[in-house]
Amino acid sequence: MTIQVRLLDQGRQTQASQVELQLATLPPLDASSRIWHRQRQLEILHAEIAACHLCVDAGYIEQSSGASGCRGRIGDRLMLIGQAPGHLSVERGFPFAGPGGRVLTSWLQRAGYPKETLYSHIYLSALTKCDPGKNSSGTGDRRPSGKEQALCRPFLFRELELLRPSAILLVGSMAIDAFLGPQRLGDVIGRQYLCNGVRLLPLPHPSGVSRWLNSGEHQQQLAAAIDILASWRGLGRKSHEIVQTPPALLGGQ
Ligand code: SF4
Repeated sequence: MTIQVRLLDQGRQTQASQVELQLATLPPLDASSRIWHRQRQLEILHAEIAACHLCVDAGYIEQSSGASGCRGRIGDRLMLIGQAPGHLSVERGFPFAGPGGRVLTSWLQRAGYPKETLYSHIYLSALTKCDPGKNSSGTGDRRPSGKEQALCRPFLFRELELLRPSAILLVGSMAIDAFLGPQRLGDVIGRQYLCNGVRLLPLPHPSGVSRWLNSGEHQQQLAAAIDILASWRGLGRKSHEIVQTPPALLGGQ
């Protein structure tokens, strides 16, 4: 199994995506950056996301629902980034609350992770935190536009900066493209990438709407990705260190 190292040398740098550059240029954490302090900052960020209505003001969506687009805590060493939450996530208040979450859980179980891993030990997020609604044909979720992604991108950057994940699962072609630049799924599924010490694993979208997984060859590529995921099991160990904000900092400060 090989890790493809994306060297941000001269040739690559011009091709690297904005997110990848952000990831590649994160400085080491200051020694004084205490975990509880980052947890507090993450809670503040979640509150900002929940209150955000930039896309409503710009006329892209009718209603914001940012609280459904991210969930997790400092100490989650694995991060998962999808496209955007769907209506079930909005109803239930957390990401991947629908059938896609069940499929992701089955992939994690195939890789040897406990059943509760997805919702208890992985930081879940998305390129845009609000439900973009149905597509024009009503057959699936609308893909958030580049302008919506750009409005929401600062939140993703701040999540990356606070969480400092060891590894990121990129779920679906939009998340993959945001980190690796435009890619064909067939070229990237079953491979892992490394950027500034962070491992990146592209995965196909788990919803039944995607037909990519209908071919035997693609199922083999998924199996290779799950093997890589299995080799990462030790990376998640720190996610069990649930961080509590000191009571003195709860509320009002
Ligand atoms: S998608 Fe992001 S930028 Fe747009 S309203 Fe929701 S939280 Fe704000």
